[in-house]
Amino acid sequence: MNTIKYFVIHCSATRSNMTYTSLQLDRDHRARGFRSAGYHFYIRRNGDTEALRPTHEPGAHARGYNDCSIGICYEGGLDAMARPADTRTPEQKDALRRLLLELRVKFPLAKVIGHRDLSFDRNQDGHISPDEWMKACPCFDAHEEYSRL
Ligand SMILES: [Zn+2]
Repeated sequence: MNTIKYFVIHCSATRSNMTYTSLQLDRDHRARGFRSAGYHFYIRRNGDTEALRPTHEPGAHARGYNDCSIGICYEGGLDAMARPADTRTPEQKDALRRLLLELRVKFPLAKVIGHRDLSFDRNQDGHISPDEWMKACPCFDAHEEYSRL
């Protein structure tokens, strides 16, 4: 539990006009060969937060970082035209903040980052810039928003 260095925020890459339940998520992740849904927590548009994996078990959500991170996914991340967008509802923002505050108690040293912040630093300047993102997930600047929780 002391090895947790990051809370990695993801989006489910679901269009803003569609729903994606944790059951669908679980099924899709199993289809990709995971034991079960790869995230530890899933936050629905209405703010419901579902625990999908115990935090003492590694997730399957960030290649190379699963042993040292907790994965948190929110339902959304694409606009109605399937373009990357911060589609978090006020309820999701509340729920995410509450969840991070709870997790912070258990893992005081962990940093909040977005999945895209784990992209490869191609020009080695110590900063992951937008042209280096392997994907847009989670479609907002999680580090900027939650670094001072
Ligand atoms: Zn992601």
